Amino acid sequence: MNKLLVIGFSVGYLALLFGVAYAAERRSAERRSLVSNPYVYALSMAVYCTAWTYYGSVGRAAHFGLEFVGIYLGPTLLAPAWWLVLRKIIRICRLQRLTSIADFISARYGKSASLGALVTVVSVLGIVPYISLQIKAIASSFDIITGGGGSGFARQSGSAAGSALYTTAALAFFTIIFGVRSVEATERHEGMVLAVALESLVKLVAFLAVGVFVTYGLYDGFGDVFEKAAAVPALSRLFTLHGAGTSSPQWFTLLVLSVAAIVLLPRQFQVAVVENVNEDHLRKAMWLFPLYLIIINLFVLPIAFGGALLYAGRSFDADTFVLALPLDAGQQWLALFTYLGGLSAASSMIVVETIALSVMMSNSLLMPLLVRMPAARAGDGARWFAYLGQAALQSRRLAVVLVLLLAYGYYKFIGHTLSLVNIGLVSFAAVAQFVPVVLGSLYWKGGTYRGATAGILAGFLVWFFTLVLPTMVGPGLLPTGLLEEGAFGWSGLRPFALFGLEGLDYLSHGLFWSWFFNIGCYVGFSLLSEPTPLEQRQADVFVDVFRYRNVFEGPAGWQGGAALPDVRALLTGFLGKKRTAQALHAFSDRFPDAHPSETTATEADPRLLAYAEKLLAGSIGPASARLLMASSVGVEDISFDNVVGILRESQQLLEANRQLQKQSRQLQRLTDQLQVAYDQLQALDHQKDEFLYTVTHELRTPLTSIRALSEILTDNPDIAEAERNHFLQTITKEAERLSRLITLVLDLEKYESGQATLECAPLDVAEVVNDATDAVGQLVRAKSIQLDVVVPPGLPRLPGDRDRLMQVLVNLLSNAVKSCRADGLGRIAVVAEASRAGVLRLSVRDNGKGIDPAYHTLIFDKFFQAKNQTTRKPEGSGLGLAITKKIVELHAGRIWVESQPEQGACFSLELPITSAPI
Ligand code: ADP
Repeated sequence: MNKLLVIGFSVGYLALLFGVAYAAERRSAERRSLVSNPYVYALSMAVYCTAWTYYGSVGRAAHFGLEFVGIYLGPTLLAPAWWLVLRKIIRICRLQRLTSIADFISARYGKSASLGALVTVVSVLGIVPYISLQIKAIASSFDIITGGGGSGFARQSGSAAGSALYTTAALAFFTIIFGVRSVEATERHEGMVLAVALESLVKLVAFLAVGVFVTYGLYDGFGDVFEKAAAVPALSRLFTLHGAGTSSPQWFTLLVLSVAAIVLLPRQFQVAVVENVNEDHLRKAMWLFPLYLIIINLFVLPIAFGGALLYAGRSFDADTFVLALPLDAGQQWLALFTYLGGLSAASSMIVVETIALSVMMSNSLLMPLLVRMPAARAGDGARWFAYLGQAALQSRRLAVVLVLLLAYGYYKFIGHTLSLVNIGLVSFAAVAQFVPVVLGSLYWKGGTYRGATAGILAGFLVWFFTLVLPTMVGPGLLPTGLLEEGAFGWSGLRPFALFGLEGLDYLSHGLFWSWFFNIGCYVGFSLLSEPTPLEQRQADVFVDVFRYRNVFEGPAGWQGGAALPDVRALLTGFLGKKRTAQALHAFSDRFPDAHPSETTATEADPRLLAYAEKLLAGSIGPASARLLMASSVGVEDISFDNVVGILRESQQLLEANRQLQKQSRQLQRLTDQLQVAYDQLQALDHQKDEFLYTVTHELRTPLTSIRALSEILTDNPDIAEAERNHFLQTITKEAERLSRLITLVLDLEKYESGQATLECAPLDVAEVVNDATDAVGQLVRAKSIQLDVVVPPGLPRLPGDRDRLMQVLVNLLSNAVKSCRADGLGRIAVVAEASRAGVLRLSVRDNGKGIDPAYHTLIFDKFFQAKNQTTRKPEGSGLGLAITKKIVELHAGRIWVESQPEQGACFSLELPITSAPI
């Protein structure tokens, strides 16, 4: 294709991105963000799919089958865990104003500058080759589409190198304009994010277009391609998980590496954490992003198989299929579109990665040196701060150029001699060295600076030895003896079989040993060393971050001593007048008592110092911010004694709090008990009222008739003899009833008040039962009821009050008689038995009208009958069973009834007995 045309489109496309980014920045300045939505967030995360995957997936699929899926499967499977891990990281970074993975690790382990520097060096060394891979992809694809390079990615022509240089320069320009605009790294780069999201969309659509073209244009759909491929033995083995030689450990390693990379690769950290506008966007991204990965991988296999089938027999580079297939089919425009997709994949990766690395380099390498300069302590503070602020900004721009130069240099001078195939995964393995320390930061308070440093250093060295050194052997930079005999001729130090561990693929082998030493050193050294107070404080903030809501909260860390104007000058130096004013305004809204805007030279509030440190950390990293606070404003780090004091105080507070809680729990218990007692009293009082009411009511009925009859007799002296006698009899009967009732009430009262006493003697059960049946004999006969008494001989004696037990039995028997029919069919049975050892059971069973189960307990209440008007009978008082129950209970026994309506009733009572038989 025409070179100028391609260049024109490339430049045009980049200009379009510039325009989009510019528009987004404009909108952002007007507070009408285009970026604040989960879709853009998820799309920007797709910067994960680089040119390496855009072109390389097809290449890998053509050689190793399904293996290419590995690095997408990991993030897809673990996306739900983001809500736990990623959200926590986002929250920590927001509260502490951290802007890179180096800042994150350094901040947790005592805001150490050296640890930040170590992380930065590891990242740069691990990532720069990966960036050069992207540059190479841009150059090679340019080469292919313009027909300059023949067989593609493997070789490098002059024009390709030229185009690579120009593209790199353009990207550096873009990065500086949209990525490093102000010194505040916490500020979001909305333009850059939107451009990246757009690029993600372009590469997705472009890849799908090629996929559809190959699958449905060159072939007849998925089935056709797969069928044809399955017929070729070399391709059919690619259909299985292990067919092309991908072992299970290798699958596992791919999953683990990609899970780590999706969060810890500097560019992923940048888009997922630093550029996150709203934690809630994660919810959608958790499924949108995996969906993106699935869609973009849909056509990888068809393109790979389609290409392999088409070019069978010829030498081909499968990495070029995506471009070569449409080109060779004469689809110039589609090829151009595909090329732009690849350009998107590569350029977005380069831009984001470079921003992330440049922030790291400036924050962790340069600024800590600058702020330590003695000038910081002397002379005109305000000017020095402004100078530092400028230096931070310029150093970041410089770092952008440096990173891209390094990457370009690597591509130009080393890249073509080293095999690039696995550079992506080796990069993943480099950032995987941060996994133990980062997870430790989130969930383990025991990790220390020494442990973290030792862990990362050890992991990095082993990574270098097992994964990087071997790549230098092929091009002849190192002797092949290294691989076969080991370093220094010692076979234990063979890079592919460290300490004799053989049988693993080299990636799994490298990851295993690097993590082995990494985790070992991290945990070991952490346990051996004491954390400093600052580390402890940071550990608390990190692990328990969800306790804090915003940047104003968190432990103070500084005690006073700094003059307020100095602090203001410091902030102005880095944030500028406007931002400083805004920040102080927000602060005074929050803490009106701290007076941050006072003009007189008062002392700054410790909370303001903590806040200022975080603001500075957003610009120059936590380590430099801390150094700067300590050195220039003249504040004192909170002393050890003070920390102990604060801790003790909070300990005492905690203890007092616990005591208070305990007491209030006790109080609550007492209150509950009181409430229960009160309720009982109320109920008793109510019962008493009711009882009084019923008693008087019951007494009044006979009294009324006695009075009425006596009045009649008094008013009519000449009443007939027979009538008079009848009246007098009635009066006597009513009076008897009255006195019976009073006796019963008094009886019951005696039992209830606990004044009743028993006159106990050993009783013969048969005798008592017989006496009781004799007492009701008259009634029984009057209703022609058949009465059976079953008392087995040899029953033990019953210790009890004879009269009372008689009363019980007579009561039950007369109740039974009352309920029985008078037509000669009524039957009553009294049974005595030793039901269990030491227990005598007496039951009175009748075949009368029975009792509804709903009343089985109620009938033992006083005046039940009276209360329950429907069963009211003139003969009864409703007190009989209540007294019966009291008597049984006085004998330490129990009484209950079994009955159904119209099926008779069986009253049973059990009494304890002595074991001595008669
Ligand atoms: P009362 O003096 O009215 O008999 P009780 O306390 O002895 O008072 O009995 C209460 C109520 O229990 C009676 O009114 C009656 O409704 C019911 N009851 C007692 N015994 C029997 C029984 N054997 N069969 C059916 N109902 C009974």
